[in-house]
Amino acid sequence: MYRYLYYFCALKKSRKISLMKNPLAIGIDIGGTNTDIGLVNPDGKVLKHKILKTAEYDDHHPYILDIAGSIRAMLSESGVSEVAGVGIGAPNAHFDTGCIGADTANLRMKKEIPICEMLQRILNIPVTLSNDADAAALGEHIYGGAKLMQHFVTITLGTGVGSGIFVDGRLIHGHGCMAGELGHAIVNPLSDRLCSCGRKGCLEMYASARGICQTYREEAANGEFPDTFKGSELTCKDVGEMAVAGDPLALKTYDTTAYWLAIGMANAASFCSPEAFFLMGGPTRAGEALLAPLRHYFAENLLYIYKDRISIQLSELQANDAAVLGAAALVHLK
Ligand SMILES: [Zn+2]
Repeated sequence: MYRYLYYFCALKKSRKISLMKNPLAIGIDIGGTNTDIGLVNPDGKVLKHKILKTAEYDDHHPYILDIAGSIRAMLSESGVSEVAGVGIGAPNAHFDTGCIGADTANLRMKKEIPICEMLQRILNIPVTLSNDADAAALGEHIYGGAKLMQHFVTITLGTGVGSGIFVDGRLIHGHGCMAGELGHAIVNPLSDRLCSCGRKGCLEMYASARGICQTYREEAANGEFPDTFKGSELTCKDVGEMAVAGDPLALKTYDTTAYWLAIGMANAASFCSPEAFFLMGGPTRAGEALLAPLRHYFAENLLYIYKDRISIQLSELQANDAAVLGAAALVHLK
C-alpha cells in the first residue's frame, strides 16, 4: 500500500509515468525465436507465461491474432477479468507510432507491424510498445532495484549491449526514439574490432558476449596465462564460469571487459549524472569477477565531481523474467 502511495507522490512530479488503478499488467517480450507473454502482478511476479514461436510467422496478421488469443486464454485461466494494459518490448520498436519497423533483423515478418493499434482494437485495452532497453529501465524502476530512484541507467549485456536512461523521473527517448545506444559509443577509437554498425571500437565489441569471447581468444594468443578451455566452441557462459572458478585467463578477460565498460559508463555518467548503473544479462553472472574490476576502473576514470556518488549494481529483476517484467512496466508509461 505504502509502495503505491510512494509511487503516486514520487511520480506525480513526472508527466510521463502514472500508476494505473488496476496494477495487474500483461508484458510481452518479442524476440526473433520466441514471443514470451506474461501476466504480471504489482510485486513484479510473473503469474503465468504463454510462449509463441515468433519464427513460425511470416505474416503479422495471424501473429497478432494468436497473441490476442493467448492473452484472453491466460486471463480466463487465471480468473482475471481486467488488466491495466499490455506492454510490449520488441526490437526496432517505435514508441511514438506504436509500430515495429519494417525489415527488422531476426524477424521473418518483414512488413511494418502496427502492433499497438491492432492489439488495442482486438482487446480494447491500452497497448504500449518500446524497445527492450527502455523496457528494462522501466522494469527496474517499477519492479526492481531502482524503485526509489529518479536518475539511473540500465545496461544490458548480451548478444549486444543495450542501455536505458532514466533521468529526472523520466525515461529518455530522444529524437526518433533512439536515445541510449551506449553499446555503440566508441570507447576505443584505435581498436580494429569491427562492429555490426560499421564502425570500430564500439563498447559492444568489448562488453557483449561476442566481445568477451574475442577478448578471451586474444588474451589466450598472448600466452601470458594458460588457455584452460579445451572445448571446440567457446561461449561467453564458459568464460564466465571459468572466471568464477578462478581461471587466470578468464579473470584477465573479465578485467579487460570491465576496463572498456568502465570507460563507457564514466562517459555516460558525465552526460546524465545517474545515482546508479544497473547491469543485467548473461555476462553479469560472473559476479565479482566483473564487478570488482569494473568498480575500480570506473572510479579511476570518473570525473571527480561524481566521486562516490554513483553506485554500480546488478539488476534486481529475476533474469528469466526480466524482459517480460520490463515490458509489463511499459503499461505505467503514459
Ligand atoms: Zn557499433
